Amino acid sequence: MKTAIIGGGPGGYIAAVRAAQLGAEVTLIEKQYMGGTCLNVGCVPTKALIHAADLYHRIVSEAAKNGIVTGEVSLDFETMQKKKDSVVKHLVGGIGGLMKSYKVTVINGEASFKSPNVIEVKKNDGTGTEEISFDKALIASGSVPSAAPVPGYDLPGVIDSTGALSLEKIPESMCIIGGGVIGIEMAHIYQTLGTKITIVEKLPDILMNLDRDVTAAIRKIMKKNKTVIMTGTKVESIEKAPEGLAVNVTGEDGNPLQITAEKVLMCVGRRPSTDGLGLENAGISTERGRILVDENFRTDNENVYAAGDCIGGIMLAHVASAEGIAAVEHAMGRECGIDFNTVPSCVYTSPELSGAGLTEQEAERQGLDYEVGRFPLIGNGKAYIEGETAGLVKIIAGRRSGRVLGVHMCGPSATELITEGALAIKAGLTTQDLINTIHAHPTVGESVQEAAHAVFGNAMNMPPAK
Ligand code: FAD
Repeated sequence: MKTAIIGGGPGGYIAAVRAAQLGAEVTLIEKQYMGGTCLNVGCVPTKALIHAADLYHRIVSEAAKNGIVTGEVSLDFETMQKKKDSVVKHLVGGIGGLMKSYKVTVINGEASFKSPNVIEVKKNDGTGTEEISFDKALIASGSVPSAAPVPGYDLPGVIDSTGALSLEKIPESMCIIGGGVIGIEMAHIYQTLGTKITIVEKLPDILMNLDRDVTAAIRKIMKKNKTVIMTGTKVESIEKAPEGLAVNVTGEDGNPLQITAEKVLMCVGRRPSTDGLGLENAGISTERGRILVDENFRTDNENVYAAGDCIGGIMLAHVASAEGIAAVEHAMGRECGIDFNTVPSCVYTSPELSGAGLTEQEAERQGLDYEVGRFPLIGNGKAYIEGETAGLVKIIAGRRSGRVLGVHMCGPSATELITEGALAIKAGLTTQDLINTIHAHPTVGESVQEAAHAVFGNAMNMPPAK
């Protein structure tokens, strides 16, 4: 089956692998860079910089306490950026090799639909256009950063996440507009490297998709680190100022306020990238830019599927890949199925944050009869050894069924440990199942078992509940 895939991000390239595994003859068209946003200007470069920043912080704050004599520790931001670039290059190169190994034909160029079953590619090498006819096609064209349309948003010094990943020097100060995952991770990187950070968020809290206990824990830590977080605050305009830029806002109390900073970083979300795809030529509908699909990721054109950021929904790399796999499996006659209830959300701050399933606020809104178990990491030996006892593990469970409905974490390795929570929810496990599963000691993971005990008021490494 001739299968064409538009976009080489985690939605497109993983789908290409799956389609090839199922026997399809696959052509993948990518206009800019293999790996898409995720590998080039998203997940990978942010985590590479976070790794370096965290390493610096741990050396400065932990080395001496652990008997490691380092002498003066200083930052070389240029090398840090080079290391990040080399990680990206290595992983992007790996995808090229993967495509070859599955005999996927990769065409570098911009794709657009010419008709319901023909894609035209304007080739990057200047050799003109090529027409590709297909039996099935998948659009995985991703997303691009949105900008808050306030006066001054296009001034020099106003950057987006891509700009923040390629700065040549560490700014003295940065005002981050948007307290979502990307804004908070950028705040973490630059605060750790010494930038004075102010975050402006119009909603009542940062990281609104996470459980409030988790956001409260990280806000406390960020405040201690001198990051200023202004919630319920609306950006009105940006203008030039002697310090660089001034952001005019209306504060929570309705009063105007000005924040000055060397750089202003816009992290107000991303929008599907569907311009120029010629969707109208293939009978594919969109709604406010996002491609409309059914439960099998099929568009209005029965032979064309769409997955990842371009269909909106949860804009995460692992979701894009899962949707891409489900789409090509359905296209090739297999049953597809995705359980969006177990998608883990992760924030790579220090300590890390994560969540899967229902937050307590969602359980409350849905009127569920639920119980909560919380285990503070101060009671966990491994967290203490690592000097990272701020944070908690929290479990939401059905009161009568005992089933795990949500798991939320703030602590070391929270982004790794959340898979246990997602698996428990997916498998319909109860808190008793978590208790009955012997967890290794000493691990931070024991806190998941302890939070399950705490649902019954019986955490082992805590005094009795009053
Ligand atoms: P993309 O990765 O955007 O790939 C789409 C590809 O399609 C692009 O390469 C583009 O060039 C190509 N394309 C578009 N139009 C055409 C065309 N007409 N012809 C040919 N090619 C075309 N997610 C996580 O899960 N974890 C994280 O830690 C994380 N961190 C992030 C950090 C930042 C700073 C950002 C910006 C995003 C982050 N994300 C993270 C989100 C993640 O990057 C996206 O959800 C993911 O990349 C979406 O994958 P995709 O395949 O749908 O699209």
